[in-house]
Amino acid sequence: MPTDGRNAYVHQGGAYRARGDWGRPVLSMTRPLLEGVVRSRVAALPNVTVESGVRVERVSLSAQAPARVVGVVVDGAERPADLVVDCSGRSSAIAHELAEAGVVAPPVTRVGIDIAYASCLLRRGPDDFVGSFVVCQDNPGTFRGGAVLPVEGDRWQVTLAGVHGDSPGSTDASMLAFARGLPTPVVAELLERCERVGDVETYRFPSSQRRHHEKVHDPVAGLVSLGDAACSFDPIYGQGMTSSALQAEVLGQVVGEVVARADVAGLRSSELPKRFYRRAARVVDAPWRIAVGGDFGHRATTGPRPPGSAALNAYVRQVVRASHSSVEVARAFNRVVQLADPPTALARPALVARVVRHAGRSPVASGAPVVHPRVGPPSR
Ligand SMILES: Cc1cc2nc3c(=O)[nH]c(=O)nc-3n(C[C@H](O)[C@H](O)[C@H](O)COP(=O)(O)OP(=O)(O)OC[C@H]3O[C@@H](n4cnc5c(N)ncnc54)[C@H](O)[C@@H]3O)c2cc1C
Repeated sequence: MPTDGRNAYVHQGGAYRARGDWGRPVLSMTRPLLEGVVRSRVAALPNVTVESGVRVERVSLSAQAPARVVGVVVDGAERPADLVVDCSGRSSAIAHELAEAGVVAPPVTRVGIDIAYASCLLRRGPDDFVGSFVVCQDNPGTFRGGAVLPVEGDRWQVTLAGVHGDSPGSTDASMLAFARGLPTPVVAELLERCERVGDVETYRFPSSQRRHHEKVHDPVAGLVSLGDAACSFDPIYGQGMTSSALQAEVLGQVVGEVVARADVAGLRSSELPKRFYRRAARVVDAPWRIAVGGDFGHRATTGPRPPGSAALNAYVRQVVRASHSSVEVARAFNRVVQLADPPTALARPALVARVVRHAGRSPVASGAPVVHPRVGPPSR
């Protein structure tokens, strides 16, 4: 269900974002639906074969030095490949094994945020809420997050998240108590009004984690790593899938270039991973700075702080305040957060001038009351 800033409510930095055209509609759905659609579209490509239920045991390495990845092992049998793409997620066994075997061990950065999630689905009715969705990020502040998003099957998906030991728990009562601590009442009111369908699901995310393949002088040939296997961000910023897709796009370009120059032999060269990691690092830099920079707004966050993050956070706080009254600022900010534009888009002189003008008009600065959107009365 596509929705945009005209009927969405995003509460951040003490008030709601000004509503209007935020530049990019949001498609809201459950993960199984998203994955099912992507999988069926990929499987429909004429030159793609998908094998389901297959576990890669390990990569196979060439006998000669320097070691090269020459395929994967499945059910004890070697499957040769010109290029293996490790997109097996944050805990990539391939990355661990190659590091342990001393083949390649990129430096890893971890920024500890210790997020506890609780999610559930609610039955959705037409009179529940005047808006199409509500998202709340109390950052800076308690760092509590809450979202109620419409998904297929006339349901709301509710997600609550707290950091550094502040957990929404796993029961209706603990979720409601947590939601009542958010600066918008909407999430708690929807939890009270609507019937829960299905279980409460919980998830723990200890740290953002980045494997710096771009810093490896001689990456192993025949292998590239992307998506969460290379970099997994604090999910609260919602950038993991976009960043993975952008890395896949870069891989497509690099493969096209090397195949054009050296045919399939180019796929087996160490030039390919070198080029790929160099460019993929640029794709990952922006969301990494946004996510871990933002997390350092909490004093319990651990790990290496990106240079300039205090100044960046101070400016972003002004951008958020200005977005309370300026749709143009809301749009520019939204496009950067969604990785449609680089963070430098927020430094354009005309935008900076608008931020300065509008930050003082935020209810947070003026003391004006924040008007919350209406939720129907509890129906249970
Ligand atoms: C709670 C939460 C909320 C999130 N919300 C958002 C959001 O709103 N927006 C957003 O953009 N991102 C979000 N993310 C991040 C997003 O889910 C990830 O960035 C994205 O899924 C990464 O995709 P991936 O394919 O790299 O890894 P994964 O999604 O982890 O997929 C890895 C796949 O590899 C398979 N695999 C692993 N090992 C093997 C093996 N040996 N053999 C065969 N297969 C294997 C796994 O089964 C899995 O299917 C969220 C993450 C979490 C945890």
